[in-house]
Amino acid sequence: MSENTPVHHVAAIGAGPGNLSLAALYQASSDGRSMVLFDRQAGPSWHAALLHPGVGMQTSWLKDLVTVVDPTHRLSFLNYLVTTGRFYALHNSQFDSLPRREYQRYLAWAAGQIENLHYGVDVDAISLTADGFRLSAAGVPQSLSEHVVVGVGTRPTIPAPLSGLPEDRVFIADELARRLPAMAVDRTAPVAVLGGGQTGCEAVLRLIGEGFTDVRWIGRGQWFHTIDDSPIANEFYRPEHQRFLQGLTLSTRDRLVTEQRSTGDALTPGGMRSVYQANYHALLETGSFAAHIMVGHDVVDATVEDDRIVLRCETSEHRTEIPVAYAVVATGRELAPIPFDDELRERVEFDDNGEVIVESDYSIRWKGSNGHRIYVLNRARQSHGIPDANLTLLPVRSALIVNSMFEREVYRLQENLCAVTWG
Ligand SMILES: Cc1cc2nc3c(=O)[nH]c(=O)nc-3n(C[C@H](O)[C@H](O)[C@H](O)COP(=O)(O)OP(=O)(O)OC[C@H]3O[C@@H](n4cnc5c(N)ncnc54)[C@H](O)[C@@H]3O)c2cc1C
Repeated sequence: MSENTPVHHVAAIGAGPGNLSLAALYQASSDGRSMVLFDRQAGPSWHAALLHPGVGMQTSWLKDLVTVVDPTHRLSFLNYLVTTGRFYALHNSQFDSLPRREYQRYLAWAAGQIENLHYGVDVDAISLTADGFRLSAAGVPQSLSEHVVVGVGTRPTIPAPLSGLPEDRVFIADELARRLPAMAVDRTAPVAVLGGGQTGCEAVLRLIGEGFTDVRWIGRGQWFHTIDDSPIANEFYRPEHQRFLQGLTLSTRDRLVTEQRSTGDALTPGGMRSVYQANYHALLETGSFAAHIMVGHDVVDATVEDDRIVLRCETSEHRTEIPVAYAVVATGRELAPIPFDDELRERVEFDDNGEVIVESDYSIRWKGSNGHRIYVLNRARQSHGIPDANLTLLPVRSALIVNSMFEREVYRLQENLCAVTWG
């Protein structure tokens, strides 16, 4: 190992919103100790491939990197707006939801003020040392640290029935923008969008907006659900509910969180209306709908026949075939892998699904920790509640982790007025 490998208190893999929030709160309280972050991307970027024109956030701008724990923090979204001169322009635009492009700019602005943040570093090994951990990239040690935080996020998946098909015809939604010029040679060719969630919805809107006239929006469910944004559903997105969950057995938490999914994993309110309105405009302009919404269709197999991809679907009582020129896959994401080296992997405890077991302070269970902790972000939805997989309570999670790292109450989590008693 190089004698020059920098030594830090904490080393973080990934510089998405999760670790940026943690670094912001860490930096404000570090007592001279340091945190280093590595991200494989070339520079600040947040789901850039899915930034179609006009796409909006599913969460309020108040749910930024810091505010719900420390509203006076200089990396608040409000401070971003005021110091970059955007406050009135944005406020007077009266968006129903914040443009995602604006949130991405805010993240880049915040990242520019985080110390020790290195882009272009793909960490491929977390190893044990006598004093903690070493992170390496392509065999080169990058840091030594007492603790590690894994914030590697998620990645899109292609379901088994659609794997092995030509990549220029069947691809994930992240590739749609890049493929559009080739597809636009024939905008009347049928294009399938698979998946009834927000990413599928945005792909359909993009295709209609680009003038495609035969879009088939296909999903398993009988209808495509909209997020339940009612006051009582929003109560799941507060620290009090997280505390309630922590008092339950793991199996009960798992059951309750599964029941709550429609409050998070669904279409933005107004998303379906946007599709219907874009579709109606297409009808007025061309005489026919641009999108056909094919609910209750489960794609179980797909093959290439002549110049078409043939999707074989099971419906509630029949089987049917849908031949298309392209299939845009927006069926979900999986957790990105954690790059433990073999020795460390041997010591980590995994559950029946092969996932790490996350304690209440977001550290994971592993043998021989000796005070050194590995924290994980966005991997504890079933045990810690839905907010772990989204942006709503980032500062709360960050505060709990900072408190755990410093073994004292650096951040006091305020008790909030709450009219609900969960049972
Ligand atoms: C298109 C889209 C829109 C979303 N919109 C919302 C929303 O409006 N509201 C909401 O609450 N939630 C939203 N979510 C869900 C969730 O909040 C986001 O996915 C969020 O980005 C998660 O933050 P993260 O930091 O955990 O992971 P990510 O943002 O995925 O960041 C992970 C980072 O780790 C890096 N990385 C991965 N592996 C390595 C490695 N080995 N070495 C170095 N770097 C690595 C990646 O380059 C990436 O930058 C959205 C998700 C998507 C996909």
